[in-house]
Amino acid sequence: MNKGRNTPNEETRFPTPRERGTDFEVPYARSNIEKCMCSQCPVQADSKCAQDKLQSSKKAMGAMPGVEVPNPEDVPGIYCSTGKATCQDLNSERQCICNSCEVWKEYDLGEGMPSQYFCKNGKAT
Ligand code: SF4
Repeated sequence: MNKGRNTPNEETRFPTPRERGTDFEVPYARSNIEKCMCSQCPVQADSKCAQDKLQSSKKAMGAMPGVEVPNPEDVPGIYCSTGKATCQDLNSERQCICNSCEVWKEYDLGEGMPSQYFCKNGKAT
């Protein structure tokens, strides 16, 4: 008898981040910062503020051991976790590329509000 063998086991299946509850948050973690595509995004490609922060935060992370992370305001990205950009010279008329990002896919960010342009609209919920 292998009744139930192929049915999902709700007790042991690991819930997706969004299934875990209402206090959903993308973790501000080094692994997510490293996956973030914002450094290649057209929206901030011509932002001097974001490009300067990109250079300095890359350098800072290179010098940091293990899982340490810079202050969120010094990282021009992972806005889905930290909220709106502090740089004021982003161009939101350009195409957001969040939907090409592994973090976006992993946390089902297309299902939330906002679902893109986190740099302008605030963090994912
Ligand atoms: S979903 Fe967008 S803001 Fe979030 S980590 Fe990916 S590229 Fe960055």
